[in-house]
Amino acid sequence: MTSTDTFIELSERRSAHNYHPLPIVIHEAQGAWVTDVEGRRFLDCLSGYSSLNFGHGNPKIVGAAQEQLAKLTLTSRAFFHDQFAAFAAGLGDLTGKDMVLPMNTGAEAVETAIKVARKWGYEVKGVAPEQANIIVMEDNFHGRTTTIISFSTDPDAHDGFGPYTPGFTVVKYGSVEAIREAVDANTVAVLLEPIQGEAGVLVPPDGYLTQVRELCTAENILMIADEIQSGLGRTGDTFACDHEGVVPDIYVLGKALGGGVVPVSAITANEDVLGVIKPGQHGSTFGGNPLACAVANAVIEILNTGEYQARAKELGAVLHERLRGLIGRGVVTVRGRGLWAGVDIDPSLATGREISKALMRRGVLAKDTHGSTIRLAPPIVVSEEDLLWAVDQLADALAEFAK
Ligand SMILES: *Cc1c(COP(=O)(O)O)cnc(C)c1O
Repeated sequence: MTSTDTFIELSERRSAHNYHPLPIVIHEAQGAWVTDVEGRRFLDCLSGYSSLNFGHGNPKIVGAAQEQLAKLTLTSRAFFHDQFAAFAAGLGDLTGKDMVLPMNTGAEAVETAIKVARKWGYEVKGVAPEQANIIVMEDNFHGRTTTIISFSTDPDAHDGFGPYTPGFTVVKYGSVEAIREAVDANTVAVLLEPIQGEAGVLVPPDGYLTQVRELCTAENILMIADEIQSGLGRTGDTFACDHEGVVPDIYVLGKALGGGVVPVSAITANEDVLGVIKPGQHGSTFGGNPLACAVANAVIEILNTGEYQARAKELGAVLHERLRGLIGRGVVTVRGRGLWAGVDIDPSLATGREISKALMRRGVLAKDTHGSTIRLAPPIVVSEEDLLWAVDQLADALAEFAK
């Protein structure tokens, strides 16, 4: 047995099978490239589901983490610490909001947004007790907690985990009319992904976000944008909402906010919204800890230069042009924005899983979703040469199945 087989066998035997990983055992990584336990190199085209936008081992981020590790890592929020003020002000400024509430994982930040929206509904909007309702989208992905999976339309995520949390209405994604029809006096928020990542990088019709914003304003409803995967440079803007110049009432952030080093999530909003939370009503032991804040502060500094956003836009244009060239050669459609693409493979040719494995044999790591879709989201530090090489590998893999 190779060391790969040994590691996989033990992992599969002793861990829950809640994922279906590709058969590679990664040992180290730098920039856009990972190396496995047998010394083989692969181009990372998943980036930890966009947690690694700034690359593996980004020197600025790792440097900030190392410096902080040696000084102070945890205080709990029972006390202030010297990394916190810069984090709150920095993330607030990046999103143009008054206030920040830090958590750890993305799902926790979504839960936080749900709690804040409900409380705002009762205390500010005047919704009757226990009646608050949130409009959510078909094919959403917001995390794995019991409340969040209660409104998932993916049977794998949802079924078998009831009883479910009430208070959500699911409507078709991309249709402002569907939201309008679902609104009533108890509606406190619309929760959406500006681009649906896990659903296969689904981009809504042009003008959709603008219309949702207008509807929410007109109806006194909070617009909550889950930018956990779409935000922080991935699409060529700081936030996917920026594409239409739309500002949601609540930003939900995670993944790349932790620089691929530690879990850091947060919501940001203005005081009229986030001010509803009072001491004791929400929190997390690790949320906003010194190490997390130091790492996030490095991420925020990186984003404030605008370099990564510009690079994602430039490389994204190249990526999408090349991928469109594969339409009719095993590719059915290409969606996405910036350095983020959902590629639908002709299902008569191969499954997404088969294509992912064929890509892996060629040194490219990508993950399938929903049967026949491949997601491509390399770290934004990827070189243009490597990016084009990855598309060539996809073309070769498709050609192999076409034979
Ligand atoms: C990944 C993701 C989440 C959940 O984040 P976790 O850190 O895995 O809990 C929520 N929303 C979106 C859009 C995501 O991509």
